[in-house]
Amino acid sequence: MEEVITLLRESGAMLEGHFLLTSGRHSDRYFQCAKLLRYPDKAAAALAGVAERIKADLAAGRVEIDAVVGPAMGGIIVAYELGRQLGLPAFFTERDDTGAMSLRRGFEIKPGQKILISEDVVTTGKSSGECAGVLESLGAKVTALACLVDRRAADAADISWPLYPAVKVNVQNWEPEACELCKKGIPAIKPGSRKF
Ligand SMILES: [Zn+2]
Repeated sequence: MEEVITLLRESGAMLEGHFLLTSGRHSDRYFQCAKLLRYPDKAAAALAGVAERIKADLAAGRVEIDAVVGPAMGGIIVAYELGRQLGLPAFFTERDDTGAMSLRRGFEIKPGQKILISEDVVTTGKSSGECAGVLESLGAKVTALACLVDRRAADAADISWPLYPAVKVNVQNWEPEACELCKKGIPAIKPGSRKF
């Protein structure tokens, strides 16, 4: 896991400051994982540990996976890279014109198909939950969640599936009204891509 932190730092994927996260919470660090994932060799190295743990659990019958699905944009490259390392198909869900998560482009779910959801960063698990909702409404069974960075707060709600993170990072983050950086009058910036 230390190696993953080094890869994040070296590639400029770990930023420090005052950030408004897509979840609505405020934080003193922000992960722009695309900056690491732009290097295919670093993406492969950062996710190798996740793939190894999943392979071991697949072999032992502790988890079943037929395909890897990531919510766009952040989950696409992580899903692709894990699909490549696990020898499984990988595709993605994305937001439609109304902002609702959906499965498009003719991607199909077979009844009972076992899905590993893959994300770049898990903060609250909201995107994963939306992605899972779409897939399960089409008959899939979500069996696990993988991510590059698990940055959930200590008070975050539990995630419904076994979680395979490349690295677990303890980052300060707050509801806006409780934000320590807002109290100091430091302006927050919104670095993510989701529209509000
Ligand atoms: Zn703040």
